[in-house]
Amino acid sequence: MIGYRRHAAIRRNNKQIASERISILLTLAREKIKEEPNLAQRYVKLAREIGMHYKVRIPLEYRRIICRNCKQIIIPGINCRTRTRTGRESHVVITCLICGGQTRIPLKERKAVDNAKAKIKN
Ligand SMILES: [Zn+2]
Repeated sequence: MIGYRRHAAIRRNNKQIASERISILLTLAREKIKEEPNLAQRYVKLAREIGMHYKVRIPLEYRRIICRNCKQIIIPGINCRTRTRTGRESHVVITCLICGGQTRIPLKERKAVDNAKAKIKN
């Protein structure tokens, strides 16, 4: 029988280990995608499974390289296409060349810059 506090500590530790493993797997996946795409995709699947099991979110920098539609790793110049669209709401469109799915990433940073500029003008 382990007490609540100890249990909570173990769970925190597991989460810590899980997120470390996710980072390692996704780093490997990114390195291997060119030479061994199948292996890389397996790493991504594993990382996602760990994330779901331990309820750990995939870090943003890696979420951007996983297709929202088919959940496979997508790297510009290899299996996805990125296009920037400017206008009222600037965003980047990432087209996955595996499934054809598109992910939009709004460029909030740019908006922040524009807002800052507007403030200076006024
Ligand atoms: Zn896809």
